[in-house]
Amino acid sequence: NRMTISAANGSSATRRKQVPAKRRETPPSSDQESSGQHSTEDEAEDKADEEDNHDIVNILNKLPKGVDLQSARQILNDIVVRGDEVHWDDIAGLEGAKKALKEAVVYPFLRPDLFSGLREPARGMLLFGPPGTGKTMLARAVATESKSTFFSVSSSSLTSKWHGESEKLVRALFGLAKVLAPSIIFVDEIDSLLSARSSGSEHEASRRSKTEFLIQWSDLQRAAAGREQSARDKKEGDASRVLVLAATNMPWDIDEAARRRFVRRQYIPLPEKHVREQQLRKLLGHQHHELSDSDTEVLVHVTEGFSGSDITALAKDAAMGPLRNLGEALLHTPMDQIRPIKFQDFESSLYSIRPSVSQDGLRKYEEWARDFGERG
Ligand code: ADP
Repeated sequence: NRMTISAANGSSATRRKQVPAKRRETPPSSDQESSGQHSTEDEAEDKADEEDNHDIVNILNKLPKGVDLQSARQILNDIVVRGDEVHWDDIAGLEGAKKALKEAVVYPFLRPDLFSGLREPARGMLLFGPPGTGKTMLARAVATESKSTFFSVSSSSLTSKWHGESEKLVRALFGLAKVLAPSIIFVDEIDSLLSARSSGSEHEASRRSKTEFLIQWSDLQRAAAGREQSARDKKEGDASRVLVLAATNMPWDIDEAARRRFVRRQYIPLPEKHVREQQLRKLLGHQHHELSDSDTEVLVHVTEGFSGSDITALAKDAAMGPLRNLGEALLHTPMDQIRPIKFQDFESSLYSIRPSVSQDGLRKYEEWARDFGERG
């Protein structure tokens, strides 16, 4: 149950988290200990830790009174930078979705002065579609490109079994998002947080986090619409530059009231032919392979119905082909004697890597998209 925040920009506290976690956790090596030496690197690190602490205290000081500091610390301390930043170009296809996200989030965050009144941006956007189609990648790219603090939240990270803790976590999340604005609160699998079915038998804790989430989100919308924020509001951060971005593979599970709050609902479909080709070419780009253009064409054809993540899995599996054939010999075969990846490797991998969405499943997305979504 970790709440994870990764920062794409921001205050030095969040930026500093990009120091590799390992280095910060490694205890001093024994020889340093025995000699009692304190290396300059350690000192620099201690100093940085001190600065961090100072920054965190600064951030906590800006939070409104109602926010529980312990919860806020928990959120801040569990900042996790997950790998590299994602940029638009890393994502194959989805041009319509990228355009919608630029218009709805990136430009308003970078030029808030241009986006007021009629151009007031939406406070929430839902990305829905089959699993593995790039929804998470899109959210991370938005954070990178809009230079925002990225709060990546799962429903379970907002639900605590301790009485009252769930609400505190949610309040701390929104409080911090305002203080560290521009911010993106990305909720993956939002269906489990805003589920329609959960009202009766669900756990008390998840009902509480759902209710508090909706309250906080409404406050945000109100504050942003009001624009002329009071001096007090201003001090507590910039509500107009906080956006809830959510993703789901099961949009039909979101209850109606919650669904309506997502003014924008963007369908993230399976990749079309030219997108699969683009992705395959990119994946093979830096590899030693022997696939001809017509081989690639065949692959593009047979991967109809594959998601972006299915295609990645296929290419990864095929890339293992040359090594698999070697068996134990791989341990002493020089790099330049490893054979290239061949079409046959893909053929074998296609036996085991199958599309994760069925035709029936797909139809369900298409219907929901037609009824409630935007395409592109
Ligand atoms: P989702 O959030 O829709 O379930 P992700 O964004 O987590 O899917 O994608 C999972 C993985 O699949 C990514 O890390 C990437 O390797 C691959 N992938 C999915 N869609 C795309 C895409 N449009 N372009 C490039 N890679 C993709």
